[in-house]
Amino acid sequence: MKAYTYIEKGRFGFVEKPKPAVEDPKDAVVRITLGSICTSDLHIKHGSVPRAVPGITVGHEMVGVVEETGPQVTKVKPGDRVAVNVETFCGECFFCRNGYVNNCTDPHGGWALGCRIDGGQAAYVRVPYADQGLSIIPDSVTDEQALFVGDVLATGFWAARISEIKEDDTVLIIGAGPTGICTLLCVMLKNPNRIIVCEKSADRQAFVRKHYPSVEVVSPEECLAVAGGCERGGADVVIEVAGAEDTFRLAWQAARPNAIVTIVALYDAPQTLPLPDMYGKNLVFKTGGVDGCDCDEILSLIGQGKIDTTPLITHRFRLCEMEEAYRIFENKEDGVIKIAYETAE
Ligand SMILES: [Zn+2]
Ligand SMILES: [Zn+2]
Repeated sequence: MKAYTYIEKGRFGFVEKPKPAVEDPKDAVVRITLGSICTSDLHIKHGSVPRAVPGITVGHEMVGVVEETGPQVTKVKPGDRVAVNVETFCGECFFCRNGYVNNCTDPHGGWALGCRIDGGQAAYVRVPYADQGLSIIPDSVTDEQALFVGDVLATGFWAARISEIKEDDTVLIIGAGPTGICTLLCVMLKNPNRIIVCEKSADRQAFVRKHYPSVEVVSPEECLAVAGGCERGGADVVIEVAGAEDTFRLAWQAARPNAIVTIVALYDAPQTLPLPDMYGKNLVFKTGGVDGCDCDEILSLIGQGKIDTTPLITHRFRLCEMEEAYRIFENKEDGVIKIAYETAE
């Protein structure tokens, strides 16, 4: 099969590889029907993910049909439609048992698919610990509806869950890229009093205004004044999804005293907490690293019509068109939010 592969820093390309097989009793092999490109794939391409292994098939956002299972897999069987989790976790260690699956201590745990082992920008993928890494897609949910469950939507769901949002809160979300919008959808489920989204791109501001008219949209320049005008002098909850130095600063500056500041973003460089300037604000920081263990619940919410990420799919391709798909996604051309590729030729 043709597999879109991390060849070397700066270069991805198709490589002919054998179809993957079950290697461990807990593995499953999934025939991919629909996949996507994530910003993390670009980070690999640019050489900023040191643990990424040259030669691996990239891609970690996909749905498909179980083709084959190892003898110890009990949750799924061949023929099941499944969403694949970006994270690999054992389900048995202290961290997994407490829901902190991002910190799974298994040597194969963490972000493995499309980083340290072959991922899903191909026709088939081998998924280790399949009972943890696969979620069955309900019949009422389409592949497109389920596409982001295992990665960006899991991240948004986790961010909203740990942010302790209450109904009279003002929640500020910084960044309206794919993860920011998924975070917004999951924050909306908590029904807070007011939601403000801060975004600098005019395209993405327009996207939020069009699809979520109840949400206030501000530019980074307006953000501090709007948050400062809140009844309690700042947002009750700030979720920072953008990942730049100025957005990190904005996150704590826009928070009211005793607020929760949840950092979802991944930064290229260390960030500074200027404690003398923050003294007396008594902020609670929660730092990033999605615990993607709610995928079954997320699929159920999609099935009930409570979450819909299909508007995020702005561009559709076939797997053989990956070069063009990456070019558009990487250059943020044509108002792209997310792409979806089908593996069928
Ligand atoms: Zn990702
Ligand atoms: Zn574990």
